[in-house]
Amino acid sequence: MNGVVRTKEDPDYKEMVKCAMCGEVAEVAGHGSRNWHQVGECKDKRVVRLRRAYANSIATAVGTSCKDLGQAEIAGRLWMLDDQGVVLDLDAEDQLREVMGELDGREEREMADLVDLLRVRETHWREQRRFAYKGMLGGAWERMLTNWVIDPTVAARTRKKLFDKGMDFGTKLVKIFSQQITVLYF
Ligand SMILES: [Zn+2]
Repeated sequence: MNGVVRTKEDPDYKEMVKCAMCGEVAEVAGHGSRNWHQVGECKDKRVVRLRRAYANSIATAVGTSCKDLGQAEIAGRLWMLDDQGVVLDLDAEDQLREVMGELDGREEREMADLVDLLRVRETHWREQRRFAYKGMLGGAWERMLTNWVIDPTVAARTRKKLFDKGMDFGTKLVKIFSQQITVLYF
């Protein structure tokens, strides 16, 4: 790699490891996204099932807080999966818009807010996007909801709810992987 030795502290540090679940060789470190393969990319059936359940629970939570289905669908975009159950990168606005169909004027503005939120063109967008997927949503996400005329109390509660769901998803994911590792080594 151009003769550059990258240490673990380097933001571009990469470590490739074969996944115990699906056998894919994946990046496990770097860009502040430790274990992103397990979180967002692993195609193991159990992992995909868990990811789908997580997406559904998020959809329910944002559906309760948002004014209508269109708004909830935009807010829930970050947890959308591709047809193989892999988390979308959302590095391009196209991906954000995928499967959304026609948006009305208000929805267009809401979509623009979400695009801004991800700061699509900034260097650390991928890291931010991955944290967001795990339920670690910053104050900007909450402000986005209040901009959409959602009551501030509801917006705060929703952010907290999504954080809890993200933590729960993480715990269950670790359980699946540790069970697999136990099977492999004992
Ligand atoms: Zn895997």
